Amino acid sequence: MAAMNKGLLLVLSAPSGCGKTTIVNRVMNSLPGLVFSISHTTRQPRLGEIDGKDYHFVDKDTFSQIRDRQPSGFLEWANVHGNMYGTSVEEVDRHQQAGYDVILDIDVQGAEQVRSQANPVTIFIAPPSRHELERRLRGRGTENEDTLLMRLDNARKELECATAYDFLIINDRLDEAVESLRSIIIAERSRQRRTPAGQSMQWGF
Ligand code: ADP
Ligand code: 5GP
Repeated sequence: MAAMNKGLLLVLSAPSGCGKTTIVNRVMNSLPGLVFSISHTTRQPRLGEIDGKDYHFVDKDTFSQIRDRQPSGFLEWANVHGNMYGTSVEEVDRHQQAGYDVILDIDVQGAEQVRSQANPVTIFIAPPSRHELERRLRGRGTENEDTLLMRLDNARKELECATAYDFLIINDRLDEAVESLRSIIIAERSRQRRTPAGQSMQWGF
């Protein structure tokens, strides 16, 4: 039996409303061996969001306690659109050691921190246009006018960071964007001598 490979760290960033969650859910349903890293956040849950599934929803004090642990409880953390978000070191390590590839859905500040400590595969997802981004964000119906405008304003700054990522996917047609992300993951698995499904490759003659 070949030794188990430690899983990949896949960092995905995108402006809010671009379609990242939709793409990630589709890819996770069609490729085995992936786990989603559930972040901690001080943001209020949206209708339908479940604590422990979409996020660990915590208050500011709890967030600060985890952040200030020595060594830090967070692999990375940042203030995004006025709320705190962070990735648990323990959770990511546990999944990677078990051989799973871990998807981090984090913003550009968080991606920069992970790049400086680990060796992630980084993927930026961009909208086809500002107009379409606004249409999707409004269509989702989760933001009030103030937070919507803040998210659109931040999108411009986030897009400027896209060139720092290994891969760029433009989410115009959803099916194509899903296929691109699947292809990137399968290719990165092959680089580590793993099968498309993520297991260690057994070969020889
Ligand atoms: P994010 O996670 O990036 O904030 P979501 O996945 O919540 O974005 O998507 C925002 C909205 O855009 C959702 O209503 C989703 O159904 C829609 N959407 C996602 N991808 C596409 C696409 N390629 N074409 C049209 N609508 C899309
Ligand atoms: P939302 O509030 O729409 O769920 O997420 C807002 C932004 O926060 C998105 O860009 C998302 O990628 C980012 N985000 C979610 N979790 C984390 C995290 O743990 N760390 C960082 N740095 N950003 C995060």
